[in-house]
Amino acid sequence: MSVEIINRAEWGARPWQGTPYSVALSERRSFFVHYHGDPPAHSTGKAVPRDVERIHLGNGWSGVGYNFMVDQNGAVYEGRGWGLVGAHCPGHNRTGIGVYVAIGGSQKPSDAALRSVRDLYDEACRRTARTLAKRGHKDGYATACPGGPLYAWVKAGMPAKGTPPGKGKPEAKVVDLSRLISAARQDPPKPGTPVSYDGARTVEKALAAEGLLAARYVDGHFGSQTVAAYRRWQQRCGYSGAAADGIPGIASLRSLGRAHGFTVTP
Ligand SMILES: [Zn+2]
Repeated sequence: MSVEIINRAEWGARPWQGTPYSVALSERRSFFVHYHGDPPAHSTGKAVPRDVERIHLGNGWSGVGYNFMVDQNGAVYEGRGWGLVGAHCPGHNRTGIGVYVAIGGSQKPSDAALRSVRDLYDEACRRTARTLAKRGHKDGYATACPGGPLYAWVKAGMPAKGTPPGKGKPEAKVVDLSRLISAARQDPPKPGTPVSYDGARTVEKALAAEGLLAARYVDGHFGSQTVAAYRRWQQRCGYSGAAADGIPGIASLRSLGRAHGFTVTP
């Protein structure tokens, strides 16, 4: 099972300013982990890739220099992806896949973020049919990046807690976003209309585990209490105003699923 990646269109990337060069997977040899340096302005949500993009465009680059970015909820955002040359570590931008974690200073990466970086590493090895070298930025260039906690984790072999995709735990749960949205919009239900949906129960359980929803509302009915709880989740992901309306969207729902063992289909 592959890693769920929020693509450039989904997070609202700006067009490339000059197209980055392509590179074949067969040229990849290493996997570089990065952090932000100073603590970043945002550690969760779409603001993470947007901030990186703004900074990298300011450097005069084509756009985001990393291949992927991971936030503290474990959401993965596409930068240069699998097939473009990066701008993250001089001398290693063709052969190295660069992954950024949205922490800085002495901030510690969350278990969800580490799980996602490890999943990306495993996916990179699968795609390249090769065991890629595990590197911190400082292994290829004189820099403090990726900072103490992340670098120690890389050197320890990138151990990750939680369930690798498709393995262990109960069964991999799949939540159908469009069914979830229609369930959320049927409150109060029309008489005789079945609104209970198992995917809603999965999401409610996750919201309860986050401390955002009382257990008595975990009932498979995405009602007003669940909508209010989901709004709090969206706010935690960095959304505000009309973007935090309590009706699930793909990016925030994938963040929740990443942390609680379910996947999302549009
Ligand atoms: Zn770096």
